[in-house]
Amino acid sequence: NTRSAGWNFDNSYARLPQQFYSSLPPVPVREPKAVVLNDQLAAELGLDPKWLHSEEAARVFAGNEVPEGSEPLAQAYAGHQFGGFTRLGDGRAILLGEQLTPDGRRVDIQLKGSGRTPFSRGGDGRAALGPMLREYIISEAMHGLGIPTTRSLAVASTGTTVRREESLPGAVLTRVASSHLRVGTFQYAQQWSDPEAVRTLADYAIERHYPELLQIEKEGSNGAEGNAGAGEEGRYAMFLRSVMERQASLVAKWMLVGFIHGVMNTDNMTISGESIDYGPCAFMDVYDPATVFSSIDRGGRYAYGNQPPIALWNLTRLAETLVPLLHEEQERAIEIAQGILGGFERLYLGIWFDGMREKLGLSGREEDDEKLIADLLDLMKAFRADYTNTFVGLTFDAPTAAGSGSAAEAGQAAQKPSGGDAGNAELDYAEIDSTERSGANNDAAADAASGGAFRPTSFPGADALLSSGEYRVWRSRWQERLSRQSGSAAEVRERMLSHNPAVIPRNHRVEEALAAASENDDYEPLHRLLAVLAKPYAHTADQAEYAQLPPEAGGRYQTFCGT
Ligand code: AMP
Ligand code: MG
Ligand code: MG
Repeated sequence: NTRSAGWNFDNSYARLPQQFYSSLPPVPVREPKAVVLNDQLAAELGLDPKWLHSEEAARVFAGNEVPEGSEPLAQAYAGHQFGGFTRLGDGRAILLGEQLTPDGRRVDIQLKGSGRTPFSRGGDGRAALGPMLREYIISEAMHGLGIPTTRSLAVASTGTTVRREESLPGAVLTRVASSHLRVGTFQYAQQWSDPEAVRTLADYAIERHYPELLQIEKEGSNGAEGNAGAGEEGRYAMFLRSVMERQASLVAKWMLVGFIHGVMNTDNMTISGESIDYGPCAFMDVYDPATVFSSIDRGGRYAYGNQPPIALWNLTRLAETLVPLLHEEQERAIEIAQGILGGFERLYLGIWFDGMREKLGLSGREEDDEKLIADLLDLMKAFRADYTNTFVGLTFDAPTAAGSGSAAEAGQAAQKPSGGDAGNAELDYAEIDSTERSGANNDAAADAASGGAFRPTSFPGADALLSSGEYRVWRSRWQERLSRQSGSAAEVRERMLSHNPAVIPRNHRVEEALAAASENDDYEPLHRLLAVLAKPYAHTADQAEYAQLPPEAGGRYQTFCGT
């Protein structure tokens, strides 16, 4: 029985008032079969490795059997979808409960695609295999990139088909999350519950995700619980600020790796600060802020460059639900909320610029950094350069001494440093200067220069930019900036290697893995892709093929949600 499996459930969400959920088990499927299992995540959760590969586990991951201690339920929530407010809820998901992990964390275990619920509206409650495998790949890639995200424990096929535009094999994804509390959960509480519901929910969210706020509040001198005293922020104001900080940081991380969520509805924005709901998301190839992949996002509401302002828009919806808790006078409460949200842009930009500095190997902050960064992005846009490969190219072209050549020149012949006006860099950068000059096509020398990292011979989609005159001019500014900072060239290289991924889940490689799995039952490409995506900052030789662009450019890649 599932006791020996390692499940250690608690069900704190089920102890919330009844209006927050509907209790019901998942709907069993015809032929449960585990097709992908996440051994490493299972170990972190405290699950028995042998059990994970058992038939009983397959039944649990398909929803045919509920582990001991689980109190299955569908969560109620609402949300603004493309700006329009709707009552939603888990229409095809069941929360099994919260696993208490060996390292003391509490994580939701949720089945997605597990059959109809009272919130299904017109839907069938099911999911197709392709999109569930896609969520598995992208969420694990995000984790590999160091971005807070829900995780994927398993995908189980159901043995039945789902009707979409065509007939597709069905599947259930087991999703692991810090929680599934969303901005939309608060909107639901405000709109469809009694006035105390938002407070109950906020207290639950604080205890679960921001327990440190209770301590700060206690230590503060203000007596009035939850309300601001003189110059002090009450617990609900601190809560709003904390969610804002995590979301600003999350979206900055998305932007830094070129991730486009695609459906940033308020029901898809977590309170924990984890990315959730990998439907129509995709990674940008060519750098362009207007990039949209989702077939349903016709107005570009969730375009790459719109993500930060949309995050603020969503946080404003959260703030609206909290207004009654911020102050007893509504006017003052609104001022408090506006005061907090008014800090979003500055906060976001600060995090993002610091992230960009790391991608360029910069340490410290200089006033002109913002211009240097903006000018690089302008060049990338003008050259229609591949976002990821441009930064990989820069990583292997970081100026190592005053006047040393650019990538293009380094590939042609040995370069003598010309001894430009930043000659004081000579000492700091001497360390790897000689290997760089020995020729970048010499892999051994290049590897030595980059701390064992594999230097690709080309940077697909970025070579034209990197060999341009415009780039050379920009590069000399970059070089000057680097020459003013302390620390060795090896440190710069190390910083760049660990902030510029060699691989992202390129759309054509994801599609290839999904096609092999769902059409031929061949999971080899998927496992190879997962292995490479698990270590995106490793910069190893076997990653180079995953940096290639799709064979025939032109046809615009489109993603679909709701499958
Ligand atoms: P999403 O756009 O993925 O965030 O989903 C929005 C809402 O639609 C959520 O409440 C889902 O539970 C619901 N939903 C999506 N697909 C289905 C389906 N096949 N059957 C029932 N509900 C669904
Ligand atoms: Mg959703
Ligand atoms: Mg979805």
